[in-house]
Amino acid sequence: MKWFAFLFLPLVLAKDLKGFNEIRRDVPLAVSCDVEACQLPDCRCSSTDIPGGLLPRDTPQFVTITFDDPVNPNNIEIYREILYNRKNSNGCPAGATFYVNHEWNDYRLVNELYNQQFEIALHTISHNNNASYWAGATYDIMEQELGHQRKQMAHFANIPYESLQGVRLPHLQMTGNSSFLVMADYGVVYDCSWPTMHFTNPGLWPYTLDYATTQECLIPPCPTASIPGTWVMPMVSWFYGGSCAMVDYCDNSPDVNDEEAWFRFIVKNFEIHYLGNRAPFGFFVHDTFLAANPAVKAALIRFMDLVNHMHDAFMVNSIDVINWVKNPISLQEYRNKGCNPWKQADCQYRICGPMDSEHNNVEYWMHICNVCPRIYPWLGNPLGI
Ligand code: ZN
Repeated sequence: MKWFAFLFLPLVLAKDLKGFNEIRRDVPLAVSCDVEACQLPDCRCSSTDIPGGLLPRDTPQFVTITFDDPVNPNNIEIYREILYNRKNSNGCPAGATFYVNHEWNDYRLVNELYNQQFEIALHTISHNNNASYWAGATYDIMEQELGHQRKQMAHFANIPYESLQGVRLPHLQMTGNSSFLVMADYGVVYDCSWPTMHFTNPGLWPYTLDYATTQECLIPPCPTASIPGTWVMPMVSWFYGGSCAMVDYCDNSPDVNDEEAWFRFIVKNFEIHYLGNRAPFGFFVHDTFLAANPAVKAALIRFMDLVNHMHDAFMVNSIDVINWVKNPISLQEYRNKGCNPWKQADCQYRICGPMDSEHNNVEYWMHICNVCPRIYPWLGNPLGI
């Protein structure tokens, strides 16, 4: 074989060029997307095209409202106040997604959110505050942080393992290929950690990592391998307000005491999607921002009320967007298809503690829906046995 033939071999090892991430198995480097070969429901090239070739007016406008970090007795009050008992105009419960990490999390309250039909998703066990920890995280680390967290969350909140289908990485710090390889091996469907500022108007729709992405890498290292079956749900930055991925970090947002200005700010950004290619519109925020700024919370409530009254916009769980993209149906069909089936999850509520931990000297208490662990669960021992 001539030396140059190697250049055209698709199965080039996707070692990170910086040698940053140790990869447990050899994985093929992603090549440019082949639109003929890459077809729904399992493959989609990164693109601003509407799935299924639908016209914007025939496309449901999805709105994904998400919250990060542990659920606790303080923030559950906000969630109950602003989210519970909302319905979309098709009569189905309005969704929202919670990316929940382990430490200080109240699993009984996660069970409650699940039973309100909100989506629970993964946000790692340690939520390490050091970005370089994540940037250099190997497969083994991400397996402990995400793969094991899926078991841990299902166990302590007593919710179905299969219901945990999404990931948001702490600080939106990408880990190269490793988090996506773990997702593929553990059957986790999508990641919602990857912001884009280039593809905001029109916005980037979710796509798979079978082929190389066209999305820019804002917080490297981003994945370079072909990892079939994993979906990227891009965090389409807001267009007005300093291109922020998380609403709490918009540079040029209005005065946080001005409800009217905030309402107009949200609607203006929403309209870029709604009047454009109808890429899902995200409102990504932490509860603390709403708690500290009642005018912003009031503006968000008004916005959700508006969406819940629109015939062609729907507040949904993030996984619902991925499921629609896999099998896109017209607005009319979507309105008529009925609501998602749902199964209640019991909680045998127990308060456990004080418990020793092996990673620090803190004594922990846990509020859970299962038997008490022996020690505080952590990396390497996610169930605390
Ligand atoms: Zn977080």
